[in-house]
Amino acid sequence: MAVVIILGGLVAIGILVGEEESSLTPTSTGAAPTGESTGEKAVDKGDFKYFYSSAGDPTNQAIEAAARESRLVEEIASGLNQAFALPRDVAIGMGECNEPNAFYSPADKQLVICYELFAFLLKVFEQDTDKVAGSLVFIIFHELGHAVIDIYQLPAVGREEDAADQLAALVLISGGGDEAQSVLAAAEFFDRISTGELDFADEHSLNQQRVYNILCWLFGSNPQKYSSIVTSGVLPESRAQRCPDEYNQLERAWTKLLAPYVKS
Ligand SMILES: [Zn+2]
Repeated sequence: MAVVIILGGLVAIGILVGEEESSLTPTSTGAAPTGESTGEKAVDKGDFKYFYSSAGDPTNQAIEAAARESRLVEEIASGLNQAFALPRDVAIGMGECNEPNAFYSPADKQLVICYELFAFLLKVFEQDTDKVAGSLVFIIFHELGHAVIDIYQLPAVGREEDAADQLAALVLISGGGDEAQSVLAAAEFFDRISTGELDFADEHSLNQQRVYNILCWLFGSNPQKYSSIVTSGVLPESRAQRCPDEYNQLERAWTKLLAPYVKS
């Protein structure tokens, strides 16, 4: 069953099992400012607590069963608890939402991955389970971005939605190797769901802008390794020129913001 493969794949990717800890530790990243004080480390007063809400819809029930079997959310919570000191408990889990979505609720201190999101991603990617898993990982980290902004009351000088995309891309890119495939899958996801309808009032950047942002950051993280993104014509040269600076800036910002809360 595709869902089992995806969920198992997510766990196997090792997305959250300690990898973001090293990627966000200032001394581990070449572009991070060296010798700069990270200040006091925050006291760890809470944990990410996992949950699976009971689904009523048969399709969702099957996804719930597969998710429970894969222990996906336990793995995610465990990885995050190894990486982050929290001021309080934060719930992370899966639920039935009646829409294909994932979201973080500041009021409830709860990150929810909807069962319906799996079915939607399978449809978008025409059952390509690698791409489904990759884009799902990106989405989960995007929501984690919202969560840490709220939990740590991080200062923001731009749109939170863009910052959340930045964190998702950074964590995955920093993981190296296959994780970059998740970044490409995410870019393809936003490209595929782009309808051409331009909702300028939406709090998110337009889907096509998210595509180019994500590709820009991936290219910028290692222009040699990802040169084909530009040479193939997917990312315009005019944008690509400043992508290394863009990536360094977001890496520096997120690393500094999270330093007090990343366990070392
Ligand atoms: Zn968001």
